[in-house]
Amino acid sequence: MEIKFTKAPQLKEKPVDESKLGFGHIFTDYMLVMPYDEGLGWHDPEIRPYGNIELSPASMCLHYGQTVFEGLKAYRTADDKIQLFRPDENFKRLNVSHERLVIPHLDENLAMECLMELLKVEKDWVPHSEGAALYIRPYTFAVDPFLGVKPGEHYLFVIILSPSGAYYASGLDPVNIYVESKYVRAVRGGMGFAKTGGNYAASLIGQDEAHKQNYSQVLWLDGVEQKYIEEVGAMNIFFVIDGEVITPMLQGSILPGITRKSSIELCKSWGLKVTERRITIEEVAEAYDNGKLDEVFGTGTAAVISPVGHLKWNDKIMEINNNKIGAISQKLYDTMTGIQWGRVEDTFNWTVEVK
Ligand SMILES: *Cc1c(COP(=O)(O)O)cnc(C)c1O
Repeated sequence: MEIKFTKAPQLKEKPVDESKLGFGHIFTDYMLVMPYDEGLGWHDPEIRPYGNIELSPASMCLHYGQTVFEGLKAYRTADDKIQLFRPDENFKRLNVSHERLVIPHLDENLAMECLMELLKVEKDWVPHSEGAALYIRPYTFAVDPFLGVKPGEHYLFVIILSPSGAYYASGLDPVNIYVESKYVRAVRGGMGFAKTGGNYAASLIGQDEAHKQNYSQVLWLDGVEQKYIEEVGAMNIFFVIDGEVITPMLQGSILPGITRKSSIELCKSWGLKVTERRITIEEVAEAYDNGKLDEVFGTGTAAVISPVGHLKWNDKIMEINNNKIGAISQKLYDTMTGIQWGRVEDTFNWTVEVK
């Protein structure tokens, strides 16, 4: 499909100080927009100047939340190549989210072509400094001007780009996590496995409570018994107990992270015992009491690996590995970021170059 290009009258200044990028504040010169209209399908993709989108106040996405998104990054290697990490997995997952929210299937090759074209135009926006990358946000939302409840017949697929700073300014700082035992994020049969705004809306109140108690993130328990560990809401979670790497199995309420999948594959390739199963918070606390809880870490595109320093469950505060990053967490972080920035040989064929 031909992608139309509309030139911006003037380009923005690129950020000079990449140490001040932060996350999600700065947007590049261009975005990709592709409409879907019933009868026409996905059509007329266009790369056009980044700017506001006009919507009817009755747009269905604003009222009933029919919207999904993805998140990935473009990395600049030392020899100045631009590469992506497993982008095919993102577009596969986008369609899984589409399906759950009754949004029409989007051809994954077409989505990838749109992204590649946009990145070719915006290559110079990929940061140069260690740990900084160009965050990519593809998303889809229903735009029908209608207040009845039904799946849309008109959508927009959009990709915006945001240069983002190194997640860790000074090495891998362990995060403090609060186990939420009142609210839940998702339930089995719900849409926890889809990357959709509604799951985040459901999580804000827990996040707020955690922040009030000086914890940075929430560990969610299952929505039925509030016993089994699910995930951190923007990260999946791993435990190393007595040398065994354990992560909650995917049962529909957990987002199937690509960093999670890659961590499992890497750990297995190193000969570690990796188990995907249900695990209760009691089991984790018991392992801690018995001195067998070696490491806890989160996985996600933003931080890659996020070691957990403190885990608070009701009145119990567990300090993990003396609030230091563990050996497996460190090895995963070094290997995955090494592959992403081209410092470590990509024996898995995970990276895709933007040419
Ligand atoms: C995106 C996301 C993750 C992490 O997925 P990655 O593909 O590893 O970035 C975990 N949980 C939720 C709820 C997410 O939205």
